[in-house]
Amino acid sequence: MSRFMKKAFQDFDSYTPGEQKNDGSYCKLNTNESPFPPAPAVVQALADFDADMLRLYPDPTGRVLKEKLAAMHGVAPENIFLSNGSDDIINFAVLAFVDQDEEVVFPEISYSFYDVIAALHGVNVRRIPMAEGFSIDPEDYCDLNQNIVIANPNAPTGLALSSDQIRRIAASNPDHLVLIDEAYVDFGAETVIPLINEYDNLLVSRTFSKYAGFAGGRLGYAVGSKDLISDLTTIQYSTNPYNINRISMRLAEAIVDSDDYYRVNAGRIAATRARVCEKLQSMGFEVIPSKANFVFVRHASVDGGTIYEELKKRFVLVRHFDKAPISDYIRVSIGSDRQMDLFINKLQEVLSINQASEE
Ligand code: PMP
Repeated sequence: MSRFMKKAFQDFDSYTPGEQKNDGSYCKLNTNESPFPPAPAVVQALADFDADMLRLYPDPTGRVLKEKLAAMHGVAPENIFLSNGSDDIINFAVLAFVDQDEEVVFPEISYSFYDVIAALHGVNVRRIPMAEGFSIDPEDYCDLNQNIVIANPNAPTGLALSSDQIRRIAASNPDHLVLIDEAYVDFGAETVIPLINEYDNLLVSRTFSKYAGFAGGRLGYAVGSKDLISDLTTIQYSTNPYNINRISMRLAEAIVDSDDYYRVNAGRIAATRARVCEKLQSMGFEVIPSKANFVFVRHASVDGGTIYEELKKRFVLVRHFDKAPISDYIRVSIGSDRQMDLFINKLQEVLSINQASEE
């Protein structure tokens, strides 16, 4: 830390991103990326991209992309906010909607970025304890009269609430923001985008990083009432008016045009997930039922830290959170069938060595 860091940030704990080992030597199952190539139209759009256009600023309104997204979701373009990845939405939403004397409420076990953003903006947080099996009891979030952020499906558990359960949360906190982070919704959960016309406090955030395999392209968006979107835009224009670069904007348009291709891939992930879960159970793992492109699992006798380390030695990367009460678990992204076979194979090796050393 330099001596210039302001006092408020001197002990600041920033978010720790997953390890990005992208030289091809690792089977990378740690940051929930897609194993599939881009749709043909996306590859074509990149090949056709006119580099000369990079001289010019991108359209700060993102009109074409917003129109396509709006048509896909059955809302108006004014209901859409574009962002450089969906982490930015959480940041802008806390900046725009949470007063210093208010709280941001979220589940105790969830995406750790929520904590970091709240701390960055110096707002209070309330972490609601989990219900049975790390689930979220929607009743715990009703009538709080506070701002609420819930990932649905939740991370890192993969458990999802139904649209009706989220409706109750939004309806019972009418004077506060209810932000539903749908980063992983495409792998089997229910979206609440159709509810945005009924609840003007409901903001839904989405990303192309997971189901559309566009983590490197950085495209997120939020869907909500026109007024919420206009407030987010005020904040965004005051921080980074050209937040989506021209290349990502063009490719994102091609992604929306290729939605069928990405839906098929999401279905393939769900099928692989089912197969992997069954296999893990047969190997002595407790598997939390996931609606996301990852699974959160714990072995009966080998702890999460050991499994993570031993897999890494074998060039398989998974995610381990070294904090109670989830330190026994590992989170494993669902990749291609080939990647998952390799993972299972290496995992069997790790378990057999560990079990032999116990005997
Ligand atoms: N929400 C959740 C729950 C996530 O796990 C992630 C990915 N780390 C994000 C949002 C942000 O993804 P991105 O910024 O790539 O859109």
